[in-house]
Amino acid sequence: MCDYHAPFFGATYPDACCIDGYLWDLDSCDEPGGALSVGGDIPCPACNPTAHEAYFTDVTESEEFTETCTLSDD
Ligand SMILES: [Zn+2]
Repeated sequence: MCDYHAPFFGATYPDACCIDGYLWDLDSCDEPGGALSVGGDIPCPACNPTAHEAYFTDVTESEEFTETCTLSDD
């Protein structure tokens, strides 16, 4: 856990905080200081940068195997 605060969940003000290395939406509590109901999925970029990067890395990057037809007709 660190003191990471940043606009993250679509707000123009810092609406994200870090709890145990994951970001939580500060707007998701019912009352001020209440329990947060949205968050915990996104790793904190400050204290959990490796996981954060992995979370946002597009894993759809496909490795293309080009099948080359090597039929020799001799
Ligand atoms: Zn953090």
